Order: sequence, then C-alpha cells, then structure tokens
Amino acid sequence: MSLSQSPYILYSDGKGNIFEDTSLYVTGRSGWDAVPVPNDHWIELPDGGSLYELPGRKGIGIDVTTGEMRLCEKGWAVAAFIPPAHTGFYLAAYESSKDAPTLPLFCYTAAGWLNNKFYVPAVRIEPDIRQDCPGYDQDKVNEGAAYLLKHYPHNRLVNHLMNNCALTYHCPAARNFSLGRWECPVPVSSGCNANCLGCISFQPDEKIIVPTQDRLDFIPTVEEIVEFTVPHLESAPYPIISFGQGCEGEPLLMWETIRDAIIEIRKHTSKGSININTNGSRPDAVEELCKVGLDSIRVSTNSARREIYMPYYRPNNYDFDDIVESLKVVNRFGGWTSINYFVFPGMTDSVAEYEALRKLIKETGLKMIQWRNFNIDPDWYLGKIGITDTGECLGIKQLQELIRDEFPQVKFGYFNPSMERIKGKFDYDFAH
Ligand code: SF4
Repeated sequence: MSLSQSPYILYSDGKGNIFEDTSLYVTGRSGWDAVPVPNDHWIELPDGGSLYELPGRKGIGIDVTTGEMRLCEKGWAVAAFIPPAHTGFYLAAYESSKDAPTLPLFCYTAAGWLNNKFYVPAVRIEPDIRQDCPGYDQDKVNEGAAYLLKHYPHNRLVNHLMNNCALTYHCPAARNFSLGRWECPVPVSSGCNANCLGCISFQPDEKIIVPTQDRLDFIPTVEEIVEFTVPHLESAPYPIISFGQGCEGEPLLMWETIRDAIIEIRKHTSKGSININTNGSRPDAVEELCKVGLDSIRVSTNSARREIYMPYYRPNNYDFDDIVESLKVVNRFGGWTSINYFVFPGMTDSVAEYEALRKLIKETGLKMIQWRNFNIDPDWYLGKIGITDTGECLGIKQLQELIRDEFPQVKFGYFNPSMERIKGKFDYDFAH
C-alpha cells in the first residue's frame, strides 16, 4: 500500500519526548546522502519497534512549501529500531555535530509521522513469527526458565541461557528455549578469530561503543550440550538447535566439541535441524561437521565484496575466500546454506555489491539470504572502513526484486529455517 504523501519528520526534545514537525517531510539516508523516500516504501512501525532520539544530530527534511532540503532545528533527530523479521530500506538522515557521541550497536532506520501513526521505510521479509513481540508472555518465560534451571541444576549452559540470556538480555532465542519451542541457542565459544568493528559480544578496551552482551566465559562440555538439546529436538515444534550466538565468539574454534555433540545427539534423535551461525572462517572444520550430520549453516557478512569485508571483520588468520568456501562445502554435502546479510542502505544496494552478490549466489549455490538490519552507527561504520562515496545505488527494495527475479530458488527471510521448511513447503502458514 502506498501512502498518499510523505510522512513528516520527527524530532525529540532530548528528554525522551518525540514530536512531529509538519513543516518538513522526512527523508531517508543511503550511504552518506539524504534522499526522498518513495511513498510506496512506508509501512506502519511494526509492533516491537522502538524510537530513538539521536543526541548531537539534527534531522534532514524536505520543506513542505519550497521542496528544499533543510535541517530540523527544533530538536534532536529521531530514528527507529525496527523489530526482527523486517528489513529497513533507508537509514535515518541527519547531520551530526562535531562532538556527537558514537551511537550504540542498534539499527537506525528512518521514521516519520502521518495521520497519528509512526511510519518506517521497511518490509516484513520473514513470515515466521518466532520473534514477534506479542508471542512472548514473560510469566511463561519465567516459569519455563525456573523449570529448566530446576531440571538441569548442574548444567552451566542452561544456567547461562536462562539467567543471562533469557532473563537478563531478553534474548528472543533463549526465551523460545524457555518456552520449549522452535530454535534453541547453543553458545559454545569464548574466543574469536575475527575482530569485527561492531562485535556485539566483545569491544576493545577503548570501548567507543559498549557490547550489548558479555561473551561466554566458560567452555561447555559435550555432555552439557547434549543434555538439553536432545529433549528440545524431541519435543519442540519445528525444532532447531543453533550453535553460534550473539553471546559468544566464533563456534568453529570449538568444532571438535560441536562434532562430538552432533554425533551424540544423533544417537538419540533424528528430529529437527542442527544449524551453525558462524563467520565461516574454517571450511575444513565445516567439512568435519557436515560429515557427522550438520544440516544447515548461516555465514554472517557485511558484504559479498572482499574489500568491504576485510576492513570490517579484520580477521586474525583467515580470508574472505574461506567464508565462500565454507558455503560451498555445505552445499556439496546437500546442506542448507544462508548468509546473515548485514543490510546497510547505500552499501548493500550499490551496483558493485549487487554484482558481487550475484557472483556469490552463483558460485556457492546459496539457498537463502537473511536480510538483517546492520546494527551500527552509520557515520562510524563508513568512516572506519574508509568509505567516502558509495557509488551508484539501486535502492534496497529494487535490489531484493532483482535478486528475486534472477534467482527465484533463493529464499528470503530473517531466521534459520526448520527442517519442515527446508524439506517441505518453505512458505507455510505461520500462525502455529
Ligand atoms: S565474528 Fe562474531 S564474535 Fe567474532 S568478532 Fe565478529 S561479531 Fe564478534
């Protein structure tokens, strides 16, 4: 549905109060540029979304009378954090003052106001409801956590997943585990062989930005992993267990433990999907995991281009080509392959990135693109990876349409699919 006009810009008084300025239409950001947002790109801010005031920043709008672009001088700029399952088409457009603080690791999608509603330029890219806000009853989460902690009193991993992840960080995956459903997280690694600028579990001492959760500080045993994952695979609807979570380093550094856990798990159950979320750095280790039954891999990347990947991931001892090889390995074993694609308007939809993405899909036989919003301060990110001009851009919406037309076999989403989706009807009714 297309809006009849552009929404108005929002601003904050710096005290958490947000207002609309009806003298200015809101713009969007692509790379370093503020641009008008087409009327058919807007959706209402979805349930679970939130609005942020951006200190030291002034929003850029289009004067409703003159059509000129100018700053909103009434207050700080405002952006939206759009909930999982949705992909943003444009970032919030603003001008930063010299002393503006670096923004924390969240996504900053454009947001506007029209007819008493908040709007964002975005699309629901994933029909699966597994992380939809209305699906979480906190009392049931507390009950489920208490049950698991009582049932696995000596299991450090269950203790971490319940007390830290579910009850402190409110991690959607850990809360689904406490509710005995869908995808269960299995963090295993306290170290990493990459140094991502926007790592959410570890930030260098100078702490320009704060990690959103602490990294696992122990090494789980095979027994601890198997003890709760087998019952989950046996009893949960659409069951998945996923190694590689936001609260750990790189799981492939623990591949022997994962290998032995998969062997043990498959002795007890053939149900569900065993997935790994990874930076894809060790194709040799990936091969060993495929040999024992790994079903699915999701490789995270900010780009399909080596020259954009390397300055962001800053790998210790691997190269971009290794992550491509890891996707190829799983494809050779007939497994499910996804990329966890950090979407950054102006970078992801540049013509150069589009060509690289086409090449990556063809080369690896990729099965799915998870279009994830990049949780990072846009100015800081582009500055750190040395991007002054993003080149010609297609628009995220058009990029998705082009990829969908050329590669109809490639699935779009936001979450790792269950075995029922992988083996069965991929797009089924999710109101389960
Ligand atoms: S690969 Fe993951 S854990 Fe490692 S630095 Fe990057 S974000 Fe952090």
